[in-house]
Amino acid sequence: MLAQAGVGTPVKGPGRFPGPFRFNGRVLELSLEKAFPGFRLSVALSVAEGETLALLGPSGSGKSTLLRLVAGLLKPDRGFVRFLGEDLTPLPPERRKVGFLFQDYALFPHLTVEENVAFGLVEARWPREAREGRVRELLKRMELTPLARKRPQELSGGEQQRVALARALAPRPRLLLLDEPLGALDLRLREELLFFLRRTLKEEGVTTLLVTHDQGEAFLLAHRVALLREGRLVQVGRPEEVYARPKDTWTARFLGHKNLLSPKESEALGLPPKAHLLPPKALALGGSLEGVVEERLFFGPRVGLWVRVGGVRLYLEAPEGPEEGAPLALRLDPAQAVPLEG
Ligand code: ADP
Ligand code: MG
Repeated sequence: MLAQAGVGTPVKGPGRFPGPFRFNGRVLELSLEKAFPGFRLSVALSVAEGETLALLGPSGSGKSTLLRLVAGLLKPDRGFVRFLGEDLTPLPPERRKVGFLFQDYALFPHLTVEENVAFGLVEARWPREAREGRVRELLKRMELTPLARKRPQELSGGEQQRVALARALAPRPRLLLLDEPLGALDLRLREELLFFLRRTLKEEGVTTLLVTHDQGEAFLLAHRVALLREGRLVQVGRPEEVYARPKDTWTARFLGHKNLLSPKESEALGLPPKAHLLPPKALALGGSLEGVVEERLFFGPRVGLWVRVGGVRLYLEAPEGPEEGAPLALRLDPAQAVPLEG
């Protein structure tokens, strides 16, 4: 139900999705270093006004550390955080005018939903009328109005996360920091909240740094994706760009690509003898490559097919497909194969 509300609904406001995002200059600039025993983070980045940038990387790659440095919850060993040219580095978190949603920053248990959302507005001394208007607006947008008088412990996990998001957004922060905002939820709730989040970021137009280990989430929410591996950025670009042109094999695999060919496998399929990535559009049903379906995965709207062609296993998805063991002919478009480094 809720997921549906976010999809295909005409959106007021800046209209950031879909369509190209106009970059109005970089508002957030950072260059930060931080070392822990056995770990070193070293990252330079900038983010444009109204842009959502996803920091994407596996567990332990330094995403939360980077976000904490930007929030001021951690001190860097070296470097700076600037917003519109102002150096935030020496400022404590509460003076950075940044909204954040971290996994371990729970709601205030003794306050109601509306009091939680109003919290930052009271702190910032918003006049009563403006405060009430803003709280009402956010509760409505997050479909929390019927829950306004409840306390956090009376809510489901997904509802609590929506309240936390509303609380972070309420004072109109110039920068929003989200650390795995869908993290602890089960699959269904994740999907539901994903579309809430997408619509909210769109309508609020707030500059956002979002941390996630899930490439699908990053692709759906962000204008640009910054891939973090062991404390370093390996690639930054629009979701379509990084997906179509991952820098190396590690990146391709992390982004969810399945057809990663060794030089030998490439050669067996008539490609030059070096590592290649076959993106989904490189493979189609029907053609001169003769194979056998080894695995057929039924996902509902589509099936995933692992097909053995000679010594190579190839994966493709289609609306339907034959049973395991059946022969299947494939077409490979060599022009779509992407050569990979290492
Ligand atoms: P991610 O959010 O990408 O999963 P983190 O930023 O939490 O990664 O952690 C990156 C690395 O830094 C990990 O190896 C983690 O153990 C280490 N680390 C994080 N915080 C601390 C800390 N306060 N003290 C020591 N090591 C830490
Ligand atoms: Mg983390």
